Amino acid sequence: MNISKLTAVLENEPKFRYAQINKALFQDYISSWDKASSLPKVLRERLIEECPLEIKAEVFKTDSGHRSEKALITLEDGEMIETVLIRQRGKKVEPGLKKATGENVASARNTVCVSSQVGCPLNCAFCATGAAGFKRNLSAEEIVEQVVFWARRLKEEGKDEKIDNVVFMGMGEPFLNYKEFIKAAKFLNNPETLNIGARRLSVSTAGITEGIKRLAGESLQMNLAISLHAPNDNLRYELMPIVKKYLLKDIFRAVDDYIRKTGRRVMFEYLMIKGINDGDREALELTGLMKKPLYMVNLIPYNATGKFRPSDRERIESFREILEENGVPATVRLSFGAEIGAACGQLRGKKK
Ligand code: SAH
Repeated sequence: MNISKLTAVLENEPKFRYAQINKALFQDYISSWDKASSLPKVLRERLIEECPLEIKAEVFKTDSGHRSEKALITLEDGEMIETVLIRQRGKKVEPGLKKATGENVASARNTVCVSSQVGCPLNCAFCATGAAGFKRNLSAEEIVEQVVFWARRLKEEGKDEKIDNVVFMGMGEPFLNYKEFIKAAKFLNNPETLNIGARRLSVSTAGITEGIKRLAGESLQMNLAISLHAPNDNLRYELMPIVKKYLLKDIFRAVDDYIRKTGRRVMFEYLMIKGINDGDREALELTGLMKKPLYMVNLIPYNATGKFRPSDRERIESFREILEENGVPATVRLSFGAEIGAACGQLRGKKK
């Protein structure tokens, strides 16, 4: 998809064409201009020529019942990026019904995970994306395109479902591509386009303090998550070489400023890697850092990609209990799609 020539094509058209096209592309999710019935035929023909809508992608399904799907999108220059659709289905018991009704569309939640860069310059020891190196930043349009891809797919399935949440947790470091990241986030939020509420947008950073500061100044009140993964700078440095530049004390200062300005909760992500960062000692050390209002911890079961192994279930649970007993709210992330290589960068790595 490439609509960069749209402004030129619409130069002599009435202003309301923009609204019509925004609706067609980002609310009706048409995948060919023929379907934009509100537009005159001549204009449609020009758009077919100048603004291709096709998104080249290969979809990988999981058969485990987790319903995650991953797509490998090929960009115009041949580079490939990953994006994931996570379908959560609650088996809710409706009031007045004795049994769960099985799949309940009303409780369906669709979350899209988007990439912000082709590859990643951070080179975290546990991450498959970093291992493959950095290629380039994505444009805001290329970021939005990932959401559009899944929205079209949901529409094709004919169910009355939409994209509820978007998380910037795919390949790359969003805060090293701040301008395009924030442009994409605002576009997703815009009521005239995808209209996804700010509270339903989340960005995850390895702790780029400049980005945390800039986000604190935005009018867009989206969620912030910090990839912590270690309770001290030494261990963190072993896992995430970027911390040479970003020490924990600097990250916490930026986060505290962010909380003061926005009054929003901040989520600290903590990967559970067997024998590396998952001991009682690390749990206690982590409690010391996390005992602040509006701080919360999300423990992430590790998807094995290289030399590291995931912590056992029981270990994760014990770790969580230590945090909770010490007054730190902690949740364990449901792990989706390990089977399809959903861990950051895995699929693209295999493909190459
Ligand atoms: N660069 C950003 C966003 C992309 S990574 C960041 O660091 O936050 C999104 C999340 O996936 C991060 O928390 C990252 O540490 C985590 N991640 C990377 N590799 C993983 C793996 N193999 N298993 C589970 N989570 C992983």
